[in-house]
Amino acid sequence: MDTIENRLQAVKSRIAAACAQAGRDPRDIVLVAVGKQFPADALRAAHAAGQRDFGENQVQEAAAKLDALAGLGLRLVWHFIGPVQSNKTRTVAERFDWVHSIDRLKIAERLSAQRPAAAPPLQACVQVNVSGEASKGGVPPAEASALAHAVARLPRLALRGLMTIPEPTTDQALARRRFETVRDLQAALVRDGLPLDTLSMGMSDDLEAAIAAGATMVRVGTAIFGARRRT
Ligand SMILES: *Cc1c(COP(=O)(O)O)cnc(C)c1O
Repeated sequence: MDTIENRLQAVKSRIAAACAQAGRDPRDIVLVAVGKQFPADALRAAHAAGQRDFGENQVQEAAAKLDALAGLGLRLVWHFIGPVQSNKTRTVAERFDWVHSIDRLKIAERLSAQRPAAAPPLQACVQVNVSGEASKGGVPPAEASALAHAVARLPRLALRGLMTIPEPTTDQALARRRFETVRDLQAALVRDGLPLDTLSMGMSDDLEAAIAAGATMVRVGTAIFGARRRT
């Protein structure tokens, strides 16, 4: 049957197969279920099937879902993966565990300043625009190092690594090269002394290529929840 539970299971099987192929341990990959455009009930179904990490890309929509799912308790981990506008930083700082889409120091500074003192630091990734598409967020690869070092100095953010969304392609070799570029950037930052352990890359169509290149977090929407309307 085509249920969220079965699709979630199918995604986990794909992750396991990709890990086997790459000689990696599936326990080293966090699956972030991206429920954007889907109602809280869809996330509830994924939660009932054992899913704990959820990604959203739109602040207002996310805030409503966090309210709706508050009853599920503290074990949910919320990842903000969309563009962060400066008038929305407070919601991200107050309600999310992770932000994957840092591409401006000014936004990172606001998030750090607004992170509540009682909460653990906001876990953060710098987004890299690896394909140079004007429509996508992220810093050019040449600017990733400077931004990462600046973000790493902010007191209430914990820089964990890099995130990327390459251009859509059916060319798995190209996808893999894009992911490897980001992996190499991350390795250079680690050599510089930044304690990074997260590569957020891979979605429904390219998670195998991302895992082959070293992804530790894959963000999967369509393959779990179904097709979305085009935005
Ligand atoms: C929507 C979205 C995803 C999930 O994409 P799918 O192709 O549906 O798996 C992953 N990352 C980001 C940043 C997104 O906005």
